[in-house]
Parts: sequence; C-alpha cells; structure tokens
Amino acid sequence: MKNLGYYNGKVDRIENITIPMNDRVCWFGDGVYDAGPCHKQHIFALKEHIDRFYRNAKALNMEMPMDKEAFASLLNDLVKKLDDEDLFVYYQVTRGTAERNHTYSPGKGNLWVMIKPQAINDGKKPVSLITCEDTRFFHCNIKTLNLIPSVMAAQKAKDAGCHEAVFYRPGGRVTECSHSNVHILRDGVLYTAPTDCLILPGIARHHLLLACERLGIPYREEPFSLEELASADEILVTSSSNLCLRANHLDGKAVGEKDFLHYEQLREAVLNEFYEETERQ
Ligand code: PLP
Repeated sequence: MKNLGYYNGKVDRIENITIPMNDRVCWFGDGVYDAGPCHKQHIFALKEHIDRFYRNAKALNMEMPMDKEAFASLLNDLVKKLDDEDLFVYYQVTRGTAERNHTYSPGKGNLWVMIKPQAINDGKKPVSLITCEDTRFFHCNIKTLNLIPSVMAAQKAKDAGCHEAVFYRPGGRVTECSHSNVHILRDGVLYTAPTDCLILPGIARHHLLLACERLGIPYREEPFSLEELASADEILVTSSSNLCLRANHLDGKAVGEKDFLHYEQLREAVLNEFYEETERQ
C-alpha cells in the first residue's frame, strides 16, 4: 500500500476512510495523538511514544480501546502493509462518538492510525526560523489535538519562508516551537527548556539529551531567553519528523553556526541511534 488509514479496526487507504461527524474530535478537538518515524518496518522509540500516548489519554480521562501491548503489535502489523522503507506513523485517540455536548459519558475512545511515506531528514541542511510570542494554553505537556495556535504559528513561519516558529512567553522565555523542541549550545553546554507544563516533553529531545550523555557534552534543563537564543553558538531543533536540525536564521538575522563540532557530533549520534535501532534485526 502507498499509505494507510485505520479507524476502529477498519483498514484502507487514507482517502477511503470516513469518520462519523459526531466523533468528538470534530466538535471539540477532543483527543490526543502521538507520532514517530519508521525505517525498514521498525518504529523508532515505540515504547516511549506509546507510553506518552497512554499517559496523555489518561491525563484527559480517556479510555483506551486496547492495552499498550496490543496497540504496539497493531502498529507493528500495520507498517508491514506499506511499500516504502521510510514512513511516518501517526495515531490518535478521540473521546468516542456522541451528540455534541461539552460533558461526556464513560466509554472507549475511537482509535485512528495514519501511515504515510516520509524520508528521514539527515539534518545537514540548515533551516531558517522566526520567533512568535507563545500565547498557547498551559497544558503544553499534553499532546492534545487542540492545535490551532500551533497551526497559526506554523503557517506564519511557512509564509515567512521558515522551517519553524520558536515560541516565547511574555518576558521573553523561550519555550519550544510549533511542532518541535528547541535547544541552544553555548560554550559547549546544551541548554534546553525544563519539562514543565510549557513544553511538550519531546522524544527526540530526550534522545538528544541521551546523545549528550554518551558524548560527554554537558546539558542543563533550564529556561533560556530570546536574547540567549539569538546569541547562541548553535540553535538545534528536534522532533520525531526531523530528528536533529540546526538553525542559521532567526527573524531574518543570521544566528548560530558557531559550534559545528558539537552540532555535528549530536546530529550524527542521534541519526546513528535512529538507524541502529531501526535496522536491528
Ligand atoms: N513540541 C511540540 C509542540 C510538538 O508538537 C512536537 C511534536 O509534534 C514536539 C515538541 C517534538 O516532540 P517529539 O520529539 O516527541 O516528536
């Protein structure tokens, strides 16, 4: 298959799957999702993604239609149906199907899976960024489907010819990007926002920190400011879609690109870990 859609047990090409209008996601964006890359039928960091997916569903009081083990084997079976070697595996659970009413009744959620071909980005080509005041709500640690502020910021970045929008809060504290985490390197130390309610604890972020540990690069999980971002030796952007990128422009000004050695060590380590895990037999 070229792509795959799954909805509550039904499997077909994405364009053939239809969803009931009363799926609560249509009225409220009432759901959580997770996603990650897959290479040669191995989904990268699957346990971590599934743990976060189930943790987020629980945080919103949603009932999963199957347990974690059954879900992992469902995903592992579904990726085998695709022709391409490099895939993006996306899934969400929504709070069931019911007539529109803000309050909800107990019951199992609706499970969606979407799988499509997506090449692995080797992170060698620098990207441009813009900054964007972070006006999102205070549950950024939950991967909810309520993504309108992120959609607007991502579009603003695209319209400006940029890869991502870096969010900051009043006062100038940098949080994350519209669909990635952002980190800086300064004097050989990696700084990354702490995992509080203002950022999504990215799985690629976690693997970047593991790479720091392996390489002996010190890291600090502490807030940093817009000024520190702009003057950093390197700005790194991580997500499961683009594991480790380096930024060279911010709001139209040249930034970063002053510590190739550490950026390259980290980029290589993250990509190598990805290929080691996904190519393991
Ligand atoms: N931050 C936000 C707001 C995101 O939406 C994402 C991914 O979609 C990330 C960070 C990166 O998370 P991960 O590395 O788990 O893909």
